[in-house]
Amino acid sequence: MGHYSIHFSPTGGTRRVAEHSIFRQFASGRPDDEDKSELIEIAAKIQDILDADFHGKLELEGSHGTYKAFGGTPLKPAGNDDCSGCGLCARECPVGAIDVAAPKDTILEKCISCMRCIGICPKCARNVDQDLWDMMAEKMAPVLGGRKENHLFL
Ligand code: SF4
Ligand code: SF4
Repeated sequence: MGHYSIHFSPTGGTRRVAEHSIFRQFASGRPDDEDKSELIEIAAKIQDILDADFHGKLELEGSHGTYKAFGGTPLKPAGNDDCSGCGLCARECPVGAIDVAAPKDTILEKCISCMRCIGICPKCARNVDQDLWDMMAEKMAPVLGGRKENHLFL
């Protein structure tokens, strides 16, 4: 089998706002119609650059030196007595953190707190600790509250 090299130069990048996956009151319902209009404009600007065959250096905010390692979150869902044992959450968990034989439990070391299992459970039988959720939501509000802007990097 041969080796293949792919060389490319990014022309533009976007930072786009979407509803928070855990605290859904932040950026709720986004991307919305306003976002879609903005994103169409952003795509048109990038297309203009491509049409002009411009090959500048893309400047993005931040750098690898400033990224923080993901330290996890204490918000881990667990099943309750409404669970029918259908196994859907176990099949759909992206990291295999639910054993199909015991879907009320969560393998804490594996769980990435994506909340997919809560969203898909047909019995609404998986939840996180409400007091902890409330406390974290309040802590996050100053950072995540308000309408955030989409951004174009060129
Ligand atoms: S999806 Fe819901 S009902 Fe089905 S096994 Fe998981 S927790 Fe139980
Ligand atoms: S929150 Fe995500 S990673 Fe954790 S158990 Fe549910 S689906 Fe799996």
